[in-house]
Amino acid sequence: MRCLLFVCLLLGSFPSLALDRFQVEGYTLRNGLQMLLKPGAERGHVAIRLVIGVGIDDFGCAEKELPHLLEHLLFSGIDASGEGGLEERMQALGGEWNAFTSNADTTFVIEAPAKNQRKVLDLLLALLTQTRFDDNAINAAKQVVEREDGGHYSHLQRWLDRQDLGHTASKQLAVELGLKCPERAEVDQLTREQLEKVRKDWYAPNNMTLIVVGDLDRLLPAYLDRTYGALKPIEPTDHLALPQIQASAAHERNLTRGFVGGGAKLHWLVPEPVLEDQHDETFDLLKDYLDWALYRQLRLAHGLSYGPWAEREVFGGVGFMSLNADLERDDVAEAQKVLEELKAGLLKDGLNAETFNRLKQAAIARQAWAVQGNSALADYYWSALGDYEDGRFADPVKELHAVTLAEANKAMRELLLQPGYIRIEKPLLSDDQLLWMIAGLLGLIVLSLAAWRFHRAK
Ligand SMILES: [Zn+2]
Repeated sequence: MRCLLFVCLLLGSFPSLALDRFQVEGYTLRNGLQMLLKPGAERGHVAIRLVIGVGIDDFGCAEKELPHLLEHLLFSGIDASGEGGLEERMQALGGEWNAFTSNADTTFVIEAPAKNQRKVLDLLLALLTQTRFDDNAINAAKQVVEREDGGHYSHLQRWLDRQDLGHTASKQLAVELGLKCPERAEVDQLTREQLEKVRKDWYAPNNMTLIVVGDLDRLLPAYLDRTYGALKPIEPTDHLALPQIQASAAHERNLTRGFVGGGAKLHWLVPEPVLEDQHDETFDLLKDYLDWALYRQLRLAHGLSYGPWAEREVFGGVGFMSLNADLERDDVAEAQKVLEELKAGLLKDGLNAETFNRLKQAAIARQAWAVQGNSALADYYWSALGDYEDGRFADPVKELHAVTLAEANKAMRELLLQPGYIRIEKPLLSDDQLLWMIAGLLGLIVLSLAAWRFHRAK
């Protein structure tokens, strides 16, 4: 109760605290529900994020769609008026809601007028506690999820996936290395019992974080304690361990994309070595550096690629950096040479200090306007939950400042010294090859006709 009083006092002193976006009042209800309340700069509006600690990574290949399907099912309705009736209630409150299932969590995202914030939270609580779904609702949700995943998973699509034709280059590599399921997850075989079990095992207050940012109601803490505080905690389920690299993959491969065309894509992918300090900030800065180096070499100096790019991606428990370029099919070998020279130059001379500092300052400057408004702030807290400690989120500016040129150079060397994986995507045939094939076929027809006439004449 004392902490509740403190929170009430805190919400009263709104303008001065709203300035520091990294300081957020957080506390835990008796049932384990974590609260993050932040007065925002915009009046009349609140952004609500309810983050549930269950995501796609918590399930094996055949069951990957369970949390996503459940997320959809929870919008089926809380009474006889069904899905439509539920939506009408939210409309009447002037709010909007949606939900997202990611690798790590399932999150309900709400924007609402400040004056209705408690009523909107009531409705969210009703959705969590009162939704009952029958087989009809499950079938309807299955169809929606299937459509979101790009339509029915046909035999052809499954065959293409097995032949490595259906994935992007990085996903394809992740499959080869045992970091990703080889086929798309399906919903057909998922049962009501499985869905109820996910709900029972994971949808509990001690596995949730409620973030509210904006024009906060003074009575909000007391209200939350009375309502959300009544949810029953559970014995938490352990998260599945994230897959690590389990198999070896070919160093270089050609991947067929489409039938005919003159374009190609070159990718060099490499696992990021794990750094003790500022891992993400260091590799974010390296990504910026490599992005710029690719642009200078492949576009400005050699004119081989219009928009080459560096990218960071995570598959299972492994982070990857990739250097990528869209090219003309005939330029692949030359681009590979330029890429090798670029890597060799960096390994020999290290990062250019002036360029590194300029890009680092740009990344720091970006932080001044990167998060604008209540909704963006709420999204930021959602994405950075792992960096929250003792009432504060880690400040990216400080973390970026802490990355020295020497450390970035060390990380760059560890990264580029690895052989990595080369993947070249191109269509089966080039335009010229197709023309030659057609010409060859026509020639064959003409020849056989001539032979046939010659035979008849004899
Ligand atoms: Zn969905």
